[in-house]
Amino acid sequence: MNNSSLQIIETHAHIYDETYQEDRDEMLQKAFSAGVSQIWMPNCASETIDGMMVLAEKYPKQCFPMMGLHPCYVKEDFEKELAIVEDWLNKYKFIAIGEIGMDLYWDKTFVKQQEEAFLYQCQLAKKHDLWIDIHSRNAFWETVNLIEKNADPNLKGIFHCFTGTLEEAQKAIELGFLLGIGGVATFKNGGLDKILPHIDLTSIVLETDAPYLAPVPYRGKRNEPAYLTIIAQRVADLMECSIEKVIEQSTQNALHLCLEKVSK
Ligand SMILES: [Zn+2]
Repeated sequence: MNNSSLQIIETHAHIYDETYQEDRDEMLQKAFSAGVSQIWMPNCASETIDGMMVLAEKYPKQCFPMMGLHPCYVKEDFEKELAIVEDWLNKYKFIAIGEIGMDLYWDKTFVKQQEEAFLYQCQLAKKHDLWIDIHSRNAFWETVNLIEKNADPNLKGIFHCFTGTLEEAQKAIELGFLLGIGGVATFKNGGLDKILPHIDLTSIVLETDAPYLAPVPYRGKRNEPAYLTIIAQRVADLMECSIEKVIEQSTQNALHLCLEKVSK
């Protein structure tokens, strides 16, 4: 593939993660050479902010940070964490609120607090005129219920790492959200082969969720944004179009999400 004119937007990568400690700059250069023009960084909690902001400062035209509290980091002290999120939103222009949502996969101890944190951060999105990057694991309809409860028709965003059913995909799209498609699309039992042929290219964006969920043939290994081309090719195969078309449209979808917000 000739990448010269194609710009891929990586909409979700934890490139500040410690697994890149030894070769972070090299890993990023590899991504830029592969055609990745922007990398959007979701935050997890207060402990990940410093590393993320170092990259935002070092690569101001390529690496863009989000601000938010990840549902898996919602614990007893979540109000303190949300105050830090809010403080940062007041002093820096982030591209989105993220990653936020509901995770009922591991631990349901803090489900009420997760709900409260999500709804609060939806309000912050409204206040700061930002879109949201949603993490929902084993909690799609719970998350949808909260979005509907929040009832803000202007709230837009991405269901990051979408791996649900066709019915769920259609619901997310109906709510005005995009589907973040990553390495799971390349997995044999990932299920996205049953979804992608039935949805429109205008509803998806590309992501790796690096360092997690590396696509085949790197499955189980460390993931990185350079592998987006593998994901784009798989999406192209499933949607029966060219990889160029997938990259062009997903990039447009991603840019539109940000433009919509700043132009309002
Ligand atoms: Zn993530």
